[in-house]
Amino acid sequence: MSAEAHRYAVFGHPIAHSLSPEIHQAFAAQLGIHLRYETIDVPPGEFEEAVRRFFAEGGLGANVTLPHKEAAFAMADERSEAAQRAGAANTLTALVGGKVQAHNTDGSGFVRDITERHSLDLRGHDALLLGAGGAAKAVAWALLDAGVQTLTIVNRTPERADALADAIGEPARCHTRYWDGLEGECFDLVVNATSIGIHGGTFDLPMSLLQDHSTCYDLSYGAAAASFKGWATAAGTRYFRDGLGMLVEQAADAFEHWHGQRPDTDPVYQTLRQRLG
Ligand code: NDP
Repeated sequence: MSAEAHRYAVFGHPIAHSLSPEIHQAFAAQLGIHLRYETIDVPPGEFEEAVRRFFAEGGLGANVTLPHKEAAFAMADERSEAAQRAGAANTLTALVGGKVQAHNTDGSGFVRDITERHSLDLRGHDALLLGAGGAAKAVAWALLDAGVQTLTIVNRTPERADALADAIGEPARCHTRYWDGLEGECFDLVVNATSIGIHGGTFDLPMSLLQDHSTCYDLSYGAAAASFKGWATAAGTRYFRDGLGMLVEQAADAFEHWHGQRPDTDPVYQTLRQRLG
């Protein structure tokens, strides 16, 4: 790697197992771009100082994951519409004069994966979104932009679901339900944007939510997607998708934002899929 390689990094806590360095290095290799992409583990409370130090030392861009996405949004001087809608940022760019720009590619990465890789036309769909955290917010807006007919949001803390629906402000299309108030409803698409699977929890949802053609999508992947997949399979879905494709697509959107060139995501996705199952 040349000494002049441009520096990028992903910040999180924990971060050791992040796939972002491998994904960004693979994109860069495809396009002949020299870059160094690091993982930086910072605990909450030290995030902003660590990012500012990284940028002051020559870092050009930072990806941000749990638990720092809201802090990333808060520290920015400029914010894209996608970041503003999510109230969170997964992509920071160093601007001249020490300023920082915030962007969010979670929603666009999700939609690109589900519509392009999995060829699902979301227009006219009735969608159920589980969760109202940072990723859920980005996905909610992206689902509506992609043309779903209705979006129902449920969350363990119902006030957060209500706040998201209020922020969207389309009561005829987007509304909330209580987690235990879904009996009798059914959906074309059920998206898990909670971290239940990471914590080893199970999904207490009616099996009758799904129809024959319904798709279930878990933003998580690997072992963290097992419990939602278990519910979805028991409920009869023939179309289960996990978040590995979203991970690659949101990275590609961040890469394009920084470098102005779009990588081919498929070889990178296939390599990771073969390894992770
Ligand atoms: P947040 O911490 O912001 O949100 C977590 C969400 O999960 C909240 O809605 C929370 O509800 C809910 N939740 C957590 N524990 C439980 C529980 N035991 N029972 C019910 N609900 C629960 O996380 P993010 O939004 O950033 O991430 C959510 C998931 O999406 C993670 O698994 C993450 O890995 C994945 N993700 C995947 C990406 C990809 O590229 N594939 C990108 C971004 C995220 P409450 O509000 O009540 O706390």
